[in-house]
Amino acid sequence: PFDPHELRVRITAGQRVVELQEELRHMALYDSLTKLRNRRAIFDRLEEELSRSRREGKRLCIGLLDLDFFKNVNDTHGHLAGDEVLRETARRIRSSLRNYDIAGRYGGEEFLVILPGANREDALRTLERVRLAVGGTPMETLDGGAVAVTASIGFACDDGESNPDVLVRRADAALYRAKNDGRNRVNE
Ligand code: GH3
Ligand code: MG
Ligand code: MG
Repeated sequence: PFDPHELRVRITAGQRVVELQEELRHMALYDSLTKLRNRRAIFDRLEEELSRSRREGKRLCIGLLDLDFFKNVNDTHGHLAGDEVLRETARRIRSSLRNYDIAGRYGGEEFLVILPGANREDALRTLERVRLAVGGTPMETLDGGAVAVTASIGFACDDGESNPDVLVRRADAALYRAKNDGRNRVNE
């Protein structure tokens, strides 16, 4: 025996729980400012992609992008304009990649890009495209201003032995060298 009204109320409540779970899952995986995967989610994807590419005998490279002198953007144009620049940077990264490449926000103004199937030359070509997309034209801010930023990118390719930690550490070391060599460049 059941009460149709009560059944309807319970189903509605159940639906709401499922929706909330979905919302929570999304919040746990995606960065709210840029809508890209957050640090944990992009790292998890890197683990998955790395073992997949090993299994399939394919290549994989990653790139770590850091905006140059980003602190100056905040200091000069304000934190809101800084946020706008981060959002636009994310859009420009995304639109310079292929569908099956994966991008995430790795930290404040740092982005991690996973390039499944890419060899060194592919990675360099793609990441140069990303660098030019980010720094090529000034970004419009909400107050009608324009902010020019550049990005430095370090990349590393799977050598068949490295694990995700090692790969990121190698990309980070390459990024450090790109900064030291004068910024606004891609380094391996
Ligand atoms: P470098 O070329 O050496 O990378 O210089 P930098 O100024 O970019 O480096 P630094 O690490 O000193 O500065 C990073 C700045 O990024 C500092 C911090 O305030 C800013 N930042 C981090 N997260 C956010 C954010 O979510 N919004 C805004 N507006 N700024 C952020
Ligand atoms: Mg940084
Ligand atoms: Mg920086």
